Amino acid sequence: MSAYYQDQKLMVEGLAVDNMAKQYGTPLYLYSKAAIEQAFTAFSAPLKDRKHLICFAVKANSNLAVLNLLARLGAGFDIVSGGELARVIAAGGDPAKVVFSGVGKTRSEMAEALKAGIHCFNVESIAEIDRLNAVAAELNMVAPISIRVNPDVDAKTHPYIATGLKENKFGIDILMAPDAFRKAKALPNLKVLGVDCHIGSQLTQTQPFVDAIKRLLELKETLSQDGIELEHMDIGGGLGVTYTNEQPPKPADYLAHILPLIPSNVTLVMEPGRALVANAGLLVTRVEMTKDNGFKRFVIVDAAMNDLMRPTLYQAVMPVLPVVEAQQTGPISDLVGPVCETGDWLAKDVPLSSEEGDLVAIGGAGAYGFVMSSNYNSRPRAAEVMVEGTQAHLIRQRETVAGLWAGEQVLPE
Ligand SMILES: *Cc1c(COP(=O)(O)O)cnc(C)c1O
Repeated sequence: MSAYYQDQKLMVEGLAVDNMAKQYGTPLYLYSKAAIEQAFTAFSAPLKDRKHLICFAVKANSNLAVLNLLARLGAGFDIVSGGELARVIAAGGDPAKVVFSGVGKTRSEMAEALKAGIHCFNVESIAEIDRLNAVAAELNMVAPISIRVNPDVDAKTHPYIATGLKENKFGIDILMAPDAFRKAKALPNLKVLGVDCHIGSQLTQTQPFVDAIKRLLELKETLSQDGIELEHMDIGGGLGVTYTNEQPPKPADYLAHILPLIPSNVTLVMEPGRALVANAGLLVTRVEMTKDNGFKRFVIVDAAMNDLMRPTLYQAVMPVLPVVEAQQTGPISDLVGPVCETGDWLAKDVPLSSEEGDLVAIGGAGAYGFVMSSNYNSRPRAAEVMVEGTQAHLIRQRETVAGLWAGEQVLPE
């Protein structure tokens, strides 16, 4: 966790969270630049002596400042839409380090990515192989591809974020993969570079990754006998982080298990999202009022499910960090927002003595936080600020109420 207490006050790098809440208002996303840098180095340092590409999964946090920072550190990017490609380019990312995942790429997204010169398409179905070959042929280009296989391993995570089981929509079943590779190899406007998988998110064990990689290696061997040589292996993202009590392997431990498995002439591609940014971020919110209905105490804050969806979407448990440390003890309370939904909660059953006017932060909010936010209940989305030492940089303005209907139009009289 990048936030810490100093003399009872919650800090991010060299700045006090209460001062930033006063300056920028709440709800407020705060990120630590140093925490993102450290997380990236935790992956890149153990890989320095081998061919590799760390592609940040843009969907975890797509703010231009975050993408630009990672690009400057040498990251590539894993994208899942044309919009994300445009963001990467706007942020100064190198298209040649982009891999394009996703089960439903449109023809125009394919064409844009081809013209931009991305590293490869992570192709997820036979239909996509045919479509991409046709789009590339029209442009007189050759599309570099990797085939995403579904290795059928249990990631042992929440069902909404497990993606590597037979019943999931992602990838091509590993048993059918050799045929898909043979087909792709025979098509004139595709060039097969590699294989990839992504088995799920917030994994807290190394074994499912190892199992998946072993299955990919068997496939590589089978393909090699057919004269199809893979230059790269992309093992996806998914490494978990500590929100409260989880104990995921550190990137160095995870890589220590994986690196010996991967032949050194193969470029190792990875797509970490959460592990690079989750714990660099806080969502800061102010208590509007408290309420006790006789059964339960509620702390009602000015952030809601539209600002942070993870609790209600995944039953995610995220750490509650009152901006004054002593407020971490007190009556067991639910932290809820003002949105008219029972599912509008940020934390349940936490000890908390914060009262009206106090500030509370939710930790681990740097990944799948702001990016999943919406305007539900006509709530403008929060501001985002990145802290660098004792400096704060506003990296996204708070939305305005008038901006909410900027593209709307009433019917003519
Ligand atoms: C979401 C996603 C990732 C990133 O997952 P994390 O758990 O955030 O590391 C990587 N690759 C693909 C294809 C994804 O869909």
